[in-house]
Amino acid sequence: MRQVDVLVCGAGPAGSAAAIAAARSGARVLLAERAEFPRHKACGCCLSEQGTAVLRELGAAHSVHDGVPLRNVRVLADGRSLEITREAGVAIGRDALDTRLARIAADMGAEVMFGTAARADADGTWHVGTERVAAGCAVVADGLAGRSIDALPGYGWQVRTGSRMGFGAVLPAGSVNCPRGEIRMHVTHDGYVGLVELPDGSVDVAAAAAPAAVRSAGGPAEYARRALGADVIDPARLASADWRGAPALTRRRARVAGPGVLVAGDAAGYVEPFTGEGMGWAIASGAAAGGLAADVARGRAACDRWPRMHASIVRGSRLRCAAIALAVRSPRTVRAAIAVGRLAPGLARRIASAVGSARR
Ligand SMILES: Cc1cc2nc3c(=O)[nH]c(=O)nc-3n(C[C@H](O)[C@H](O)[C@H](O)COP(=O)(O)OP(=O)(O)OC[C@H]3O[C@@H](n4cnc5c(N)ncnc54)[C@H](O)[C@@H]3O)c2cc1C
Repeated sequence: MRQVDVLVCGAGPAGSAAAIAAARSGARVLLAERAEFPRHKACGCCLSEQGTAVLRELGAAHSVHDGVPLRNVRVLADGRSLEITREAGVAIGRDALDTRLARIAADMGAEVMFGTAARADADGTWHVGTERVAAGCAVVADGLAGRSIDALPGYGWQVRTGSRMGFGAVLPAGSVNCPRGEIRMHVTHDGYVGLVELPDGSVDVAAAAAPAAVRSAGGPAEYARRALGADVIDPARLASADWRGAPALTRRRARVAGPGVLVAGDAAGYVEPFTGEGMGWAIASGAAAGGLAADVARGRAACDRWPRMHASIVRGSRLRCAAIALAVRSPRTVRAAIAVGRLAPGLARRIASAVGSARR
């Protein structure tokens, strides 16, 4: 059986941040990723200040060197629109970001295996591809659809009733109207669709909507086309795009730690994408889990510290995200918010600045 100090399952932002943090502290790290990279993932691609701040601390700021600086958010609903100036965060494609972060983990000394799924047995032994692996501590960062610890008792998902599903695609430049540096959020009565331009000029489209509404529209492309209305320049590009889905979004794990296991990023739980903070939470919680896992492997700390550490990283912003996600479910609230925002732009700016701001 192969021995490592820290096994990381999943090379999304959480997993790579964990691998970087653990490798920096001198641990022998194995990072296993089921997919071949680069790969796209349904995501709004807006990285918060919190995310960029932690990347700086990890020595990985160059992974977003070409990110498009975000300068404003435009919320559109029922033919009304509100522009909120907010110069914070960057837009970066997930194919580029995730590949770069995994490469940085490798540069820091982690062994990275792509196209290799990991899973735990009920007795805590890990299988990585065809190998059996004994890890001093494992960081589980396999995302919302992760199943790597299904065999371990007590980690089941609690999915919120009425949760929305996610989907997204990357469209060629010129397919939709989206000024560079602007996040355009189209809110409908059963979901929302966001647009942002990526560094190469292509446009990321990402959405959260009621599954029944997406089905009755005939699928993600048609749902997005209807929601985006006059912003669509070339409907054929939407129809032929490579749409990726995400399962029911609002969920959490029954627990996030156990003997030799720390759960981080989306694998620990998620709310909804409206505030664009998931990657920031993933990077912050992944980095903290990686550091703790290295200490656990050396016998200097115990896994039972993780639930409190994890909660202190994500709790406040998750509550805020849940409140905003709830508010945008009612078109009347959104219309009222747009009206108030127009009358009091300073207030709207202050609320927007509270979202995703740098926190350690
Ligand atoms: C529609 C939508 C829009 C969003 N918009 C934004 C946004 O604008 N800004 C933002 O910050 N966040 C956004 N998010 C959230 C963001 O995408 C996630 O929070 C983020 O990707 C979480 O990172 P992660 O590393 O935890 O998981 P993931 O990025 O999901 O990575 C998990 C990785 O684990 C791998 N994996 C799975 N199972 C295994 C296994 N058994 N073995 C090995 N590897 C495995 C997967 O292949 C994947 O690469 C959005 C999400 C959705 C659905």
